Amino acid sequence: MRTFLIRGFGLSLLLCSLVLAPSQAATQPIQLQLDARQAPTQNIVFTHEIIPAAPGPMTLYYPKWIPGEHQPVGPIANVASLVITANGKRIAWRRDPLDMFAFEFDVPAGADSIDVHFTYLGATFGHYSSSRLATHNLFVTTWNQNLLYPSTGTIQDTFFKPSIVLPGPAWKFATALTGAKRSGDTVTFDEVSLEHLIDSPLDSGTHVYRKRIWHEGTASAYLNVFADTQHEANSAKIGEPHYAKLVREMMAMYGARHWRNYNFLLTLSDQMPGEGIEHHESSDDGETGSYFLNHKDFVRGGDLLSHEFNHSWDGKYRMPAGLYPDNLQIPYNDSLLWVYEGMTQYYGDVMSFRDGIRPAKQWPNQVAAMYAYYDNEPGRLWRTLGDTATSAPFLYAAPYGYNAERRSVDFYVEGALMWLRADSIIRAKTHDKKSLDTFARQFFGGKTTGPIVVTYTRKDIIAGLNKVLPYNWTAFFHKWIDNIAPHPANGFTPDGWKLVYTTKPTLWVPKNNFWYSIGLAENHGHIGDVRFGSPAAVATLGIDTTIVAVNGRGYSAAVLAQAITDAAKSKAPIDLLVEHSDVYRSVQINYTGGLRYPHLVRIKGVPDRLSQVVKPYTK
Ligand SMILES: [Zn+2]
Repeated sequence: MRTFLIRGFGLSLLLCSLVLAPSQAATQPIQLQLDARQAPTQNIVFTHEIIPAAPGPMTLYYPKWIPGEHQPVGPIANVASLVITANGKRIAWRRDPLDMFAFEFDVPAGADSIDVHFTYLGATFGHYSSSRLATHNLFVTTWNQNLLYPSTGTIQDTFFKPSIVLPGPAWKFATALTGAKRSGDTVTFDEVSLEHLIDSPLDSGTHVYRKRIWHEGTASAYLNVFADTQHEANSAKIGEPHYAKLVREMMAMYGARHWRNYNFLLTLSDQMPGEGIEHHESSDDGETGSYFLNHKDFVRGGDLLSHEFNHSWDGKYRMPAGLYPDNLQIPYNDSLLWVYEGMTQYYGDVMSFRDGIRPAKQWPNQVAAMYAYYDNEPGRLWRTLGDTATSAPFLYAAPYGYNAERRSVDFYVEGALMWLRADSIIRAKTHDKKSLDTFARQFFGGKTTGPIVVTYTRKDIIAGLNKVLPYNWTAFFHKWIDNIAPHPANGFTPDGWKLVYTTKPTLWVPKNNFWYSIGLAENHGHIGDVRFGSPAAVATLGIDTTIVAVNGRGYSAAVLAQAITDAAKSKAPIDLLVEHSDVYRSVQINYTGGLRYPHLVRIKGVPDRLSQVVKPYTK
């Protein structure tokens, strides 16, 4: 998965988890019929299920722990109008008071199936996939939102026969589900396991751009774009050659795939939140309507598809054992997300350069921005990087205020810095004969298969790395994951670069950033975070405070930036008038260091390995 946290330096992060059915279930599949005709106008989807049953007590589950989201965020509050019947008669159900996702009832004598009807009230609350349902011209079906399943089954041996009614004849669709047959507005699919069903979202819309961007034998990769206007959909032409190269680059690095066909499902909309959720044979991606049309947005957010695509190998094919329980109600062990998400953050970024979306010259300053943020994050003095992974279920949903002291889902970007360090070690010690790519190819590549899952543990990661380079990887991870590390891992200094701060903004830390100077992050004067120990914190500034005036002038970011620049010369304190909880007061910030933006500059005489990392394999 890709989170959309916007840091002080403007980096966006990514969030994210299947196996194909090993065998057919002994019983009949569950008939799952969705009616999405009212999704574009009313944001609601109707479910009708026919579930094989036997007389006696029965429990149905609503999916709670959602693969790829790493949290118990099944949108149960959106489930309404639930009616269960058998032989045409209504059955009284009761919610388990200790498990609100479980519905209990008795199947009457003589019944061999039950009918379940409910309405999904869409897109009105929640995080990630539950915040995305429909606009007037497109909708996203995330099947886990629209089904109940028997408590006795596993995700592998519970089978569904899914179908969906689209809003009208003009509505096209794309999904990784197989065997699509359309009759009028109704589309039916092959029988599929619960695991594979919820791993295969369906996007539908009236403004569509669909292209095959790669093929080899019978396998193809498709770019499917659904937008609010045809102009926005067609703008995906700008990204298409890069995504075609992305597939070639991934295949060149991994040497094998674990998907039969791959579908990038990308929504472009200003009405629907962004998204990045990985699946084995597709990804559910979302960006703004102007994503391709605003070049800076495209470059800065250029790792969205590469991140989610990388998860097909790292996260879906190879999955931490703790993220692969038997059903969707059992809690995850997220403690290896620094591999699943950390290494994917690394390769999502690296691939965005190899596929040409980001110019190679931007790579050092992106690394500078990543490193500088974590090197100026006081929360790392109390919380380990490993704890941010274990805490993922609540950190994803944590408020932004005081993020730097709390720490956030740092296993993404700080995890990526750690993998850059590992890459640097392998390259240096093997005299550039091997790299982290060698490990990626061996561990996540292997031989081409269908969408199967092979689980791993921390020991497997260490053993895999030792096959590439014998090294004390146990101590390496102990240092960076399990211990308090005052500074993040640094892979760039040994590779010929050093961090400096200058007054010049970068693509990654744009102008009027105050985090590395007085130590606050603001938006239109509203303070969202204050770095503990910084001049702003010493001056008693906190979150939810609004800066009204600077040195007697009305607030703007430019006015504050000028005041910081002036103070570097005058050595005078900076006067702020601020408001907090309807009380106005004056504070003085004693800071004379000027504006500061992180950059990497070359160390003369030391070979530049950092630039080698983003060199493409293909033309
Ligand atoms: Zn991810």
